[in-house]
Amino acid sequence: MNNLPQPLQELIDQFEALPGIGRKTAKRLAFYLLNIPQDRLNRFAQALRDLKSKTNKCKICFNLTEEEICSICQDSQRNQNQICVVEEVLDLLVVEQTRNYNGVYHILYGRIDPLNSLGPEDILIPQLVKRIIKQGSKLEEIILATNPNMEGETTAMYLRNKLNKLKKSKNLKFKVTRLAYGLPMGASIEYADYGTLTRALENRDSF
Ligand SMILES: [Zn+2]
Repeated sequence: MNNLPQPLQELIDQFEALPGIGRKTAKRLAFYLLNIPQDRLNRFAQALRDLKSKTNKCKICFNLTEEEICSICQDSQRNQNQICVVEEVLDLLVVEQTRNYNGVYHILYGRIDPLNSLGPEDILIPQLVKRIIKQGSKLEEIILATNPNMEGETTAMYLRNKLNKLKKSKNLKFKVTRLAYGLPMGASIEYADYGTLTRALENRDSF
């Protein structure tokens, strides 16, 4: 079906290039948009135009923000001396949803992944080290909240060694902790994989 008007075909192609969207869905979305009022289309287009141009990375934690410093770093009610290190902004959003964390964040924008030639310098580890040095003796805790998979564990282990060396050389006192991963609620031990069960055992609590 190549007789579609060019703008419609272009839109279908653009949708199809997005992750998780096949040709059928791309067509359905494009035809849907063709039938909505022009002012809604304008707002949609404006949102796309503004997406990158009006989105900055926070100068402190690299969270996304419209300002220079994100609202979490600006919040004086939050503990600025407890830093939770996550791989992506989406991870920050999930931790925020728990409403149980009152510290701040540092986003790495990736993970150490030797198989794909991604080393510590390819993610925002140097920026984290700089921040820690700047924060100095006020810093209380670094929580390593990278994913419990091979790359996330590699990143956490690298950071643990790096930060412990940094503590010694700069005479800093902060704690380095790792999220305790264990068995999900409702799971049965029988179905837990080796890694999950190992971590659950390692992180067992007194009861
Ligand atoms: Zn921030």
